[in-house]
Amino acid sequence: MSTLALAFDLGGTELRGALVERSGEVIARTSEATLAGAGSEAVIGQIIALAGRLLNEHPQAKVIGIGMCAPGPLDPKAGIVIGPPTLAGWHNVPLIDILSRQFGLPVRLENDANAAALGEWRFGAGRGAGSLVFVTVSTGIGGGVVADGHIYHGRRGLAAEIGHMTITGEGDRCFCGNVGCFEAVASGTALGRRATRLTAPGDGSKLRHLSKDGNVSARHVVEAARAGDAAARELIEEEARWLGIGFTNLLHLYSPDLIVMGGGLANGFDLLAPSIRATIDERAMQAYRDVPVVPAELGDRAGLVGAASLILWEGEPGTALAMVQDEETKNGAGGQPDAPEASHG
Ligand SMILES: [Zn+2]
Repeated sequence: MSTLALAFDLGGTELRGALVERSGEVIARTSEATLAGAGSEAVIGQIIALAGRLLNEHPQAKVIGIGMCAPGPLDPKAGIVIGPPTLAGWHNVPLIDILSRQFGLPVRLENDANAAALGEWRFGAGRGAGSLVFVTVSTGIGGGVVADGHIYHGRRGLAAEIGHMTITGEGDRCFCGNVGCFEAVASGTALGRRATRLTAPGDGSKLRHLSKDGNVSARHVVEAARAGDAAARELIEEEARWLGIGFTNLLHLYSPDLIVMGGGLANGFDLLAPSIRATIDERAMQAYRDVPVVPAELGDRAGLVGAASLILWEGEPGTALAMVQDEETKNGAGGQPDAPEASHG
């Protein structure tokens, strides 16, 4: 069996674990509902239990380290989860220390949006790019920036909070307290809210039919638009224009080789793409207009494989992978280590 990483994607609702190969292939996967209200010790207990389950099922697995992603804010260098709003009782938890002591393996930590960006860059829609912006559009909007071959962390790892860039002066208040955040106008939640306001229970609209006269969600809007519903098509147009405005800002700020769009709303990417493109063509300066916007490829495993790549990908001296490769070379068991540049493009 080849060299593997244990990977965990800790979310506010679901905790996922996997064994991931150097190629990015997930060979085993498990998940359970996160005990998000129970504090850090309970959730760390869940991580340890999931790891035990994966390793018991794959006793020959040669695990060289643990890659982990969690909601921000977190400090990836110090390995500390600072205090995510979706996890109760997590205050400056030294997760790398705790897990490396538990397992006796190297542990790396990254925030979930950056890990998904790494996953798409190394194994998904962004393979071969020198720079990219990954944007996840679902309940909220998050993102990660790969700039000149590295995740861009910024001060305290807080860079690329793109959901909270102000792109208008009106609309609903964002949970962060501001009005006009990208996330407040362009997330799946915002799209569902607009659709809910546009319709009423019992009005016979396609949108309310799909939602069984409850609140309309972004998923219902995509489904109705696909079926040709005019109101849903107009909502999709408006959504795409907001996304196009936000993406234009990202082009001007980071000059990526491409923008990768993931998250739940990427299911409607084909419907959104023409108006996203038209908005970019209208608003971006000439030199930025030919940058592709593409859908993500890895779905909900982007974070897991990105987290695994923190352990498996980097071949610089002193990293977990390089040490194992040295060991393999000494024992005459290993082949040539993969040079990151060679396998990346
Ligand atoms: Zn905000």
